[in-house]
Parts: sequence; C-alpha cells; structure tokens
Amino acid sequence: MDYKQALNHPIFKTISQSAESLDVDAYVIGGFVRDFILNRNNSKDVDIVAVGDGIQLAKQVAVNLPNKPKVQIFKTYGTAMIRHHDLEIEFVGARKESYTKESRNPAVENGTLEDDQNRRDFTINAMALSLNPSNYGELVDPFNGLGDLELKTIRTPLNPNTTYSDDPLRMLRAIRFATQLHFKIEAQSLHAITKNNHRINIISKERIVSELHKILECDKPSKGFLLLEQTGLLDIILPELTALKGIDEIEGQRHKDNFYHTLEVVDNISNQTNNLWLRWAALLHDIGKAPTKKFNKKAGWTFHGHEFEGSKMVYRLFKRLKMPLNDKMKFVQKMVLMSSRPIILAEDRVTDSAVRRLVFDAGDHVDDLMTLCEADITTKNPKKFKKYHNNFKIVREKIIEVEERDHIRNFQPPISGEDIMKTFGLKPSREIGIIKETIKEAILEGDIPNQYDAAFQLMLKTGKRLGLKVVD
Ligand code: ATP
Repeated sequence: MDYKQALNHPIFKTISQSAESLDVDAYVIGGFVRDFILNRNNSKDVDIVAVGDGIQLAKQVAVNLPNKPKVQIFKTYGTAMIRHHDLEIEFVGARKESYTKESRNPAVENGTLEDDQNRRDFTINAMALSLNPSNYGELVDPFNGLGDLELKTIRTPLNPNTTYSDDPLRMLRAIRFATQLHFKIEAQSLHAITKNNHRINIISKERIVSELHKILECDKPSKGFLLLEQTGLLDIILPELTALKGIDEIEGQRHKDNFYHTLEVVDNISNQTNNLWLRWAALLHDIGKAPTKKFNKKAGWTFHGHEFEGSKMVYRLFKRLKMPLNDKMKFVQKMVLMSSRPIILAEDRVTDSAVRRLVFDAGDHVDDLMTLCEADITTKNPKKFKKYHNNFKIVREKIIEVEERDHIRNFQPPISGEDIMKTFGLKPSREIGIIKETIKEAILEGDIPNQYDAAFQLMLKTGKRLGLKVVD
C-alpha cells in the first residue's frame, strides 16, 4: 500500500515543513491512519503528534497557512487545534503517561514517539505515518496494527489488564470500535474488560453516554449491547436492560426473552432509520416489562401497564445518565408509552376510528411510532409475521386517508371554547369542557366530520341536553 496517498492533502506538506523548521519530528497518528487503511469514508479528524512541543508546532503551521487560521489551545491537555477547510487538526506533543488508581487522567511527561504509541488504546489506533523529510509517508507500526486490521481484531498494545484498568473508558471504546468496524475483541482483552468492569464507575456519565450513542448509531447495534452484556458492563450501566433477560416457565407457560427480543428490535429499526432517539426508544421500549411481570393461571404471563411504567423509567434512566431531560427525552417517553398501540390494531381488524385516535394521540410522531412498531415484529412464525406486516400496511394507508379527510394530526377543535360561551352566554364553566369533549369524541369516532357546521349542530344538541339556552 502506498501510504503517501493518505497524505495527498497539501496541509501535510505544510505541517512537515513547519516541523522541519522547528527541528521536531511529526507524525499523523491514530484514527486517520486506521481509516485510510480501512478505506473508510475519509476521516476529517487528523491527529498530529510532535516529538517536542505540539502547541508550538500548531502555531507554526497556522503562520505558514495562507489564511492564518486561529489556533485553539487546550492548556490542561497540552493540545492545540486548527480548523482548515473541512479538516480538524489536533496537535499534541509525544508523551509518556503514568496512571493512579483513582483517575483516568494520567501524570504526563514528554516522551518519544514510541512512548506515545505505547499509551494508545488499541494496536489499530497506534499506527503513525511519518511527516519527516527522511522517511515521509512511512508507516511506523510497532504493534502490528496492520496485521490486526487484517484479522479484524481489537487488541491493546500493552498488557490489556493495565490498559483497561488505567483508563476504563477504553472498555467502552473497544466495544464501540468492534461494533462500528465489525471487528472481534481478542480473548485476553475481553477477559480483562470483564475483570475490570467495575472500574467503569470512575468514568463520567457524559462519556459513557457518548459511547452508547456511537454504539446505537452502528448498522447492527446488537453486537455492541451483547458485548456489553457479556462483559458485565451492561449490568452496571443499564441494569434496566439486563433485568429483561431470561425466560420463566410456570405450568408449561413461557414468555419470550425480552432482552434478546429488544436487541432484535433495535437492529430492525436501525435498518429503517438513523434517528438516534428512535433507536433509543427501541432499546427502551420494553423496560417496563421487568417490574410489571406477573403470572396467573388464566392469563399466563402478563405485563400490564408496562408501557406506562416504562415511560416513567425512561425519565429516571435519562436523569441517572445525566442525559438531557428535554424534548428528546419526552419523545422517547412518548414512544415507549404508545409502543403497543399500533400492535393492538395490527392484531385485530383495523377500524377508521382506532386509526383516528392513534393519529390524535401520536400527533407528529405517528410515523416514528409506526416505524417502531414494525421493528417490534420479531415473531418467527411466518404466517403471523406476514399478517402483522400486512395489517400495518393497512394502518399506514388508513393514516394517510384519515389525514387527508379529517386533519386529526395536531387537532384543533372546529368549535372553540369562545364559540360555546358566546352561543350560550356562559362564563368559563364545566359545561364548556363537556361540550368540547363530546365534539372531539364524535370526530374521533367518525360520528361527525371534522368541520365547523357539523360541530356547531352537535354543540347545540349537547347544550340542549345540558339544559342550556341559546342567547341572541
Ligand atoms: P473516531 O473518530 O471514530 O472516534 P479515533 O480513533 O480518531 O476514532 P479519537 O477519540 O478521536 O478516536 O482518538 C484519536 C486517537 O487518540 C485514537 O486513535 C487513539 O490513538 C487515541 N486515543 C483516544 N482515546 C484514547 C484513550 N482513552 N486511551 C488511549 N488512546 C486513546
């Protein structure tokens, strides 16, 4: 492979010349090199390591670039960053690290390129390309990262036990890279992750969530969640999910394993949408099943009210993980709360009024809800599979039909409280609520169309029933 091709962008010559003028060696390292070799969609993040002062090199590069970009300096980390066109270039001085038990932030001292490669998380992330005139474009790969790319293996440069214990975030990164790249985690690493899983507790929630997002954004997130489960990390990070594991049997009646079912749903939905929050909804849609599970002889296994319980759990889970308690959280809650609604439709005959009610309750999220429910079909019975999908097709068609005719989405009542008060000469009172509810119900049931005249007539009728008199 001609590695010089990775350095086609003119910025690399500028960095090379700047480094030479400062008499320091410089290398491109990490993800950029890995992704070039893997032929992954051109990485826009470039990491440069200088055997010397990284910040000074960044400043020199900025001076040598025609548009003199700003250098952003991160003093605490000893790094500097330049944005150049669509590239984000980060500079750091080569360093040697030593860790203490309590923190993932090591004591740092200046080091050689080799020291710097030793501190990298995985062999595939430790490869460097030289920017020095004597061996420009040469690959420096002391741990045979190239071989691991071929073997599709995640392996640590040093003893995995030390690597993961020093910085436990690497446990999640290993699982995330395995999921993103479709790689396997080498056995000793997997063992070390399992052994050190409790160390994840020293990692900030924000960093954990950021890795979870990245796993959920993969083509097949189940791979990552299975690895998290297998290593015991999931039990620490998302115990709501591991609580869904297992199949119980009483008097010959069994329920499905809701953990594996959930993972299937997440994979299914990931084939349909890149919406991260809809993928979260898929991951959490059944979490209420663990606390609501019951058995009785007549009904067998039941999970009554699991959607409501689940939506409450979403709030607590987001809060615990320090995720934003904003409209995204509310969206996930709503999806979990409504997750069984279209399924009831699909199991039965699809009526117009049921569809109208679904559209009314789901509002603008009705399409997302349908996507979730279709992903939820994991039955292995081909007949049922076909029937449910067909019924969902009918539901989707009916949604369009009902929408065109009745405009239920973001429902605005055709008769306002004002209209009612004026007609009957009322002050704000209980009767107004009753009339409004009667009109809404009649529209949703399909007894009257969603139009002013029909609603006005029904208002008069209902008013009369309530003993109200029309005023002139
Ligand atoms: P991606 O951009 O897909 O996350 P990346 O490998 O570029 O991949 P970054 O987080 O940008 O990931 O890290 C850049 C490089 O820094 C990595 O390739 C690796 O060499 C090193 N690195 C990052 N985080 C760690 C860590 N926790 N421990 C050791 N080395 C790390």
